[in-house]
Amino acid sequence: MKYLVTGAAGFIGAATCQKLLAAGNDVIGIDNLNDYYDVNLKLARLAQFESHERFSFKKLDIANREDIAELFKTQKFDRVIHLAAQAGVRYSIENPDSYADSNLVGHLNILEGCRHNQVAHLVYASSSSVYGLNEKTPFATTDSVDHPVSFYAATKKANELMAHSYSHLYDLPTTGLRFFTVYGPWGRPDMAPFIFTKKMLAGDTIDINNNGDMWRDFTYIDDIVEGVVRAADVIPERDNNWRVETGSPATSSAPYRVYNIGHGSPINLMKFIESIESELGIEAKKNFREMQAGDVYKTFADTQDLFTATGYKPAVGVEEGVAKLVSWYKSFYA
Ligand code: NAD
Repeated sequence: MKYLVTGAAGFIGAATCQKLLAAGNDVIGIDNLNDYYDVNLKLARLAQFESHERFSFKKLDIANREDIAELFKTQKFDRVIHLAAQAGVRYSIENPDSYADSNLVGHLNILEGCRHNQVAHLVYASSSSVYGLNEKTPFATTDSVDHPVSFYAATKKANELMAHSYSHLYDLPTTGLRFFTVYGPWGRPDMAPFIFTKKMLAGDTIDINNNGDMWRDFTYIDDIVEGVVRAADVIPERDNNWRVETGSPATSSAPYRVYNIGHGSPINLMKFIESIESELGIEAKKNFREMQAGDVYKTFADTQDLFTATGYKPAVGVEEGVAKLVSWYKSFYA
């Protein structure tokens, strides 16, 4: 099959391209290679598979309507896996514009391309951040997600609503995946697992939000990619019994689904830090501080729906995952 992967130089996008190529698919990857974080890391991810005979890369910005329309005019895709976005919760508070461009305009351009190209299935990245300060755990897709606490979360919720309207209006099958804190080799330099590893090795102090009273459903990259690829294979159909939101009657029959994709067992932040400390053999210098704006206290995925639909079962525990992250970090930055 022929896949389009947006955000192909990103953490999840690069790993997804490799998995699809290993399974014998043709993949076109696009990315604007922006400098939100180290461009060399993005290029190094791409370098792992850029010369694969079934892969081709185009430097494109999804917010550019003409370029994306042209791409969909000149290529036919069986599946689109849309992972390009401006990520990051805290950055969105200072820089909402780039989220509007990439996550709203860019998402619309991908929806339009899929509609005109009659793509059989669009899978796109949503986020656990849509649950906001939800206190009911684990988070189920039937829970309310109407109270985002960052602009990033608001754009991800908007992505789901936009996808729903296209599924409903144009019969475009769409699946949104709410990712829960992804970590592992080739991970993002703006995320805690990478920052902690880097700072501990440099002997710098790490900041610990909410005085360490934080829980995250850390999910290893290979599990995420397995779930993404499985989800792409299961095309949603119209279903009059599908319930879109909790508490409301079945309001939609559109070929539209949203799933959680996480590990399904939250880890306390201090425990996660201990795993890195033990892997590095270093005790971190710690600065305990208050909860930060836009942050949430706990994330915890109920992954039953994705398991039922695709057989997705996370396989990598935190000790193994942290060991692989640390080993990659040391060799990459040696
Ligand atoms: P990432 O930043 O590593 O990857 C995103 C890629 O998209 C980057 O390479 C970037 O250059 C590219 N990009 C950004 N804006 C673009 C644009 N306008 N046009 C073309 N390319 C653009 O992030 P990631 O961790 O791989 O995340 C992938 C997706 O998953 C994102 O949509 C993100 O919001 C979502 N997500 C990730 C996590 C996580 O824990 N990593 C959690 C929840 C949701």
